[in-house]
Amino acid sequence: MARFEEELAASNLQGVNGVNGVNGVNGVNGVNGVNGHQRIPSRNGSATLAIPDDGNDTVIEVPATRNSVADAQAYMHNLSLSPSMRDRRGSRNSFGTSLPIPRTKRQSRLSSVHYPEGAPVRPGMPPIQPTRELLAAQVQDLSHEKVRAAKDMAFVFDIDGVLVHGDRLIPEGKRVLEILNGDNQLGIKIPHIFLTNGSGKPEAARVEQLSKILHSPISVDQFIQSHTPMRALAEYYKTVLVVGGEGYRCRDVAEEYGFQDVIVPNDIVAWDPTIAPYRVFTEEERRTSRPRDFTKTNIEAILVFSDSRDYATDLQIIMDLLRSENGRLKTVAKDPVSQRIPIYFSQGDLLCPTEHPIPRMSQGAFRIGLEAMYKAMTGVDLERVVYGKPELATYKYADEVLASWMEEIHNDERLPKNIYMIGDNPASDIIGGNMYGWNTCLVRTGVFQGGENDEENPANFGVFTNVLEAVQTAMRKELGKDFQFEFDERINPVLHGNGASAIE
Ligand SMILES: [Mg+2]
Repeated sequence: MARFEEELAASNLQGVNGVNGVNGVNGVNGVNGVNGHQRIPSRNGSATLAIPDDGNDTVIEVPATRNSVADAQAYMHNLSLSPSMRDRRGSRNSFGTSLPIPRTKRQSRLSSVHYPEGAPVRPGMPPIQPTRELLAAQVQDLSHEKVRAAKDMAFVFDIDGVLVHGDRLIPEGKRVLEILNGDNQLGIKIPHIFLTNGSGKPEAARVEQLSKILHSPISVDQFIQSHTPMRALAEYYKTVLVVGGEGYRCRDVAEEYGFQDVIVPNDIVAWDPTIAPYRVFTEEERRTSRPRDFTKTNIEAILVFSDSRDYATDLQIIMDLLRSENGRLKTVAKDPVSQRIPIYFSQGDLLCPTEHPIPRMSQGAFRIGLEAMYKAMTGVDLERVVYGKPELATYKYADEVLASWMEEIHNDERLPKNIYMIGDNPASDIIGGNMYGWNTCLVRTGVFQGGENDEENPANFGVFTNVLEAVQTAMRKELGKDFQFEFDERINPVLHGNGASAIE
């Protein structure tokens, strides 16, 4: 994906980073002549988009009256390319908008751990004695320094391309979670959370699926997907349009987040099918939608939660709302800025690797299209905000979640000092981690296919064959070269300890 993005950037968007070339074509691919009466020589010396010369004189060639640089070029300064450390760009949210994130402090999270086979229960019997925990506590008593170091490190995992490929397990991923859940020399839990740009399902469903694939209990309190921090927006907006995802799943997610009145594009199409002239609306869709008179509803914000399943309908409805008076459909605002409702995107990835050989367009591509259309129709830039990796808001939220998870497993709510981000995508996992001051590990099991390290966004802790190698290297750095990745049940610290027994 990174390579594809690079090629895309190099071929289409060269020299259009930031503010250069704002007025369109100056200095872009060496093209002068903004007014376009000049033909543009291509590599072979003929005009670009030349009519093929078939050797007979049956056609008349009309010279170009404009240059071949697309109209969209003029808007490109506003559009995000794949992020790069070279740009020193902190965030794609260039409009100075602050993003709210939720506080993670919760009442009780004890019941939120998911066991793949269900929690062990013996009806009528006392709970199974946690002998291993007692043993581990004794071992830990003898290794104060190592325990302190183990509680001062944490891992943040990207999921796809690191631990799994879609529904398929990456075997090293399973082993890594065993080690971090206590199968190590100290029998200690090493804090770790999951940070993905995935979307479109409730967190609990995602976590249950992941627990099954990885054969390890994973809690929703360790899990952040692209729209998880958008929960905080429920404090600000009551009536929202939620875009993207399969069926009505994102409506369910938004309602679970606490949004009181969640509208999806299907509700609007069911109310007035002429709003989306090319949409074929099924009976089933009509039956399951919630139409109402949207000329009487003020939609307060647009939240793109997941990939659009129908660009034509979604772009049309979003554009109608952005140009309306305060989010009321079938109105057009006189001033496109002052009455415009805000729009949020759950992540900004341009492309997404799938089973198709060439990566598919994702939310970032959808957003760029929307921005260009909006500018073309209104003449003003679309202000928008983006969550997800590598946006700062998502990393700040990860801190909240980590500190809260520390309380859960070690009864000590604070942020460990040495945080390791493990990811397969330099343009999101690595750049975001680098900017946030984390140690970054790039693995070769996913998007990254390059050489020694990524050139644009090098991982600062190194590149590893797989997640197990990355985790073991990081743990050896923090806990000693000879650290063992196995808990020895036969150890009896009381008999074999060095005199500093736990029960002296
Ligand atoms: Mg990934």
